[in-house]
Amino acid sequence: MRLILFIFILFLAERSFSQHIEGNVTVDLETGVFQCDLVVSDIYGLDDYKILLNHGMNIKYFKDSAGELIRYDGFYDGETRGEALEYYFVDDQGLPLSIPSSFKVEYTGAFPIYDSSYNWFDFKGYIAINSQTVRATEQAKWYPVLYDVKNDRLIDRYTYEITVQGKNCRSIFINGSSPQPGEIAHFSSSKAVPLFLFAGNYDYQSVNGDYLLNVEVGNEVAKKIFDNIDDIKKFYAATFDRQFEDNIYIVSHRAVKAMGNSNWGFNVYPALGFANLNFKELLTDKGVFKDHQYRFFGHELAHNYFGSNVMSGELYWFWLESGAEYLSFYVLEKFVSQSYSSEKLSEYANHISNNTFVPLTKIKKADEINSDYRYVLGPLILKCFEWQFGREKTVSVLKSLLDTSQQNTLDINTWKEAAIANGISKKEFSLFEKKFLSSNNFKENVIEQVREKAKSK
Ligand SMILES: [Zn+2]
Repeated sequence: MRLILFIFILFLAERSFSQHIEGNVTVDLETGVFQCDLVVSDIYGLDDYKILLNHGMNIKYFKDSAGELIRYDGFYDGETRGEALEYYFVDDQGLPLSIPSSFKVEYTGAFPIYDSSYNWFDFKGYIAINSQTVRATEQAKWYPVLYDVKNDRLIDRYTYEITVQGKNCRSIFINGSSPQPGEIAHFSSSKAVPLFLFAGNYDYQSVNGDYLLNVEVGNEVAKKIFDNIDDIKKFYAATFDRQFEDNIYIVSHRAVKAMGNSNWGFNVYPALGFANLNFKELLTDKGVFKDHQYRFFGHELAHNYFGSNVMSGELYWFWLESGAEYLSFYVLEKFVSQSYSSEKLSEYANHISNNTFVPLTKIKKADEINSDYRYVLGPLILKCFEWQFGREKTVSVLKSLLDTSQQNTLDINTWKEAAIANGISKKEFSLFEKKFLSSNNFKENVIEQVREKAKSK
């Protein structure tokens, strides 16, 4: 009995911190139609909010827990936030109302099916359907995501009870649960996760609770892929004293843009999604990842650390992508070689030599940190920090920042505070800041530093 009570309290403790979503989702692979009838509950402490829903979804209604219609705004001349339109509840005067602890919403959307033709882009926030599978991540906001305006945070992790009908589908998956066969499946999770829906005509296989979805490799190769991933995870866990032990779901989806020989991937913890990645070619004859795959998986698994926790404020692309890419160099240095890592760093420096960038301290809008900034320059800035203060201190500073990021937005000031808390003097940080973060020549200083380091090897 005591044990039952203890488990119950544990359950309550876990539930009380996260929002819950339940209901029915129907997705038709032949028409591209999505229909959702969902209740979001356990919403607390959210004063200033928006309800975000993919701009392709048409709302039938919002209702309260008594089944009464709730007035809402955002349907006319509304504001967008990324992939979504922003909605909020209003009274009969049109004035904003606070969010109730639960609400029901029904909506329908239809999305194009890429069969013989392609789009010019594809990205994680796109609801992507090809003739075989449908991919919808939390970033696409195919389900209502809450936005905490005051803290600039998305609330997209929910515990869930969801029944999915995948019309013309053979298999269905929702993140955090094992994939299931058939056209209808019920999914349940008492752990809050970002909802990633993947349905269609695909097979899946399991290796000790980890899954490969729509990946055609033999069991032997599947096992080796997870062994390699496990090695990287263990390395990160030892570095940052933080484990991620949930089962992994690796999802392969055919991109809806032409990709040639390239590929891309994303992390929706604990799932990893990939497009156009040839899983038969990941490993060497020795059964370990090929060099560049260490970087790829090193980056994706680093998002377990630099993930949705850092997605607020003007610098969020820097922390999210530069943070992950910077950590992928740890993986290269550990599993491939120091010289391969330094070769890549030099390539990065060359790649941006003709571009211009706004110094990090002068960023006003998140989008000023463009693709080259986030993936190429940003990791080099962090590398300069490491060269200046050493790996050990850098890791301690990053650990402090990751703690901070659980509740607060990361910026230059939090970085400075974390540096000082970990034994870097104010003066030392100021010198670093001046040279690599705020100077108009910051990019040139970064490149020069990379080249000097490469020479000294
Ligand atoms: Zn990334």
